[in-house]
Amino acid sequence: MTIAASRRRRRMPELPEVESVRRAIAPALEGRRLEHVEIDDVRLTRPEDPLAVAAELTGERVEHVDRRGKYLIVRFASGRALLIHLRMTGSLLREPGEASHVRAVLRLDDGATVGYRDVRRFGTWLLLEPGELEPYLGARLGEEPLLAAFTAKGLGERLAGRRAPLKAALLDQRTLAGLGNIYVDEALWYARLHPLRPAGSLDRGELQRLHRAIRKALELGIARQGSTLSDYRLPDGSSGTMQREFRAYGRSDEPCDRCGTPLEKIRAGGRGTWFCPRCQTLP
Ligand SMILES: [Zn+2]
Repeated sequence: MTIAASRRRRRMPELPEVESVRRAIAPALEGRRLEHVEIDDVRLTRPEDPLAVAAELTGERVEHVDRRGKYLIVRFASGRALLIHLRMTGSLLREPGEASHVRAVLRLDDGATVGYRDVRRFGTWLLLEPGELEPYLGARLGEEPLLAAFTAKGLGERLAGRRAPLKAALLDQRTLAGLGNIYVDEALWYARLHPLRPAGSLDRGELQRLHRAIRKALELGIARQGSTLSDYRLPDGSSGTMQREFRAYGRSDEPCDRCGTPLEKIRAGGRGTWFCPRCQTLP
């Protein structure tokens, strides 16, 4: 495998990528009625029959397009919600036309269409009845890191007593919603914390640094409309530019932007992990 190919491996949309898709697609969907829905992939809706899900969606009016962690949530006026997880290569496209790998098409009451494209077909669509969404997400996701309710103290409570490495604890969606391999490495670099530090060992100052760093990495990612992953595209077909801002992720042997020391790659939390051996030390 070439270096470029191995770098593309397993990069999935994280909070900033999903948020960028949400912001771009929401104006097309909000207030619109789904006039016709076509789903051509049994994997997308399984175990539900795609024809049955398409029939259920037809006629629903979109009230709001939301996000929670790495999930997109299409909320309908009926109280139902369509929960979309893009996984590896899913994306939503305005006017997909003849684009390849389009697995579903929503035709709206203003004549516009929105397509769901997914090369590797790991994405999922789950239609939830009124009242089902909150318990479903509550069981799987921790706090939203960009909401005011997320505090350094709350983060400390989530990490308290945990011996797992920081990297693994932050990849766990029940700790915080939306972080993945890229933004955890970036946040730990900003916070100057070693990825193998036991998650429960941080003092108050370190927790404050980590809290700020998580927000900084995610906000930068959103401002750059995400990083361009192998198949991540914004709904107009363009791509984000966050990959130009990476301080740690994917930068083996490149000099640290803070101290010039070559960055190192290790395995942590089961994933390739990049860090600065001088700025991010183990006590
Ligand atoms: Zn450094």
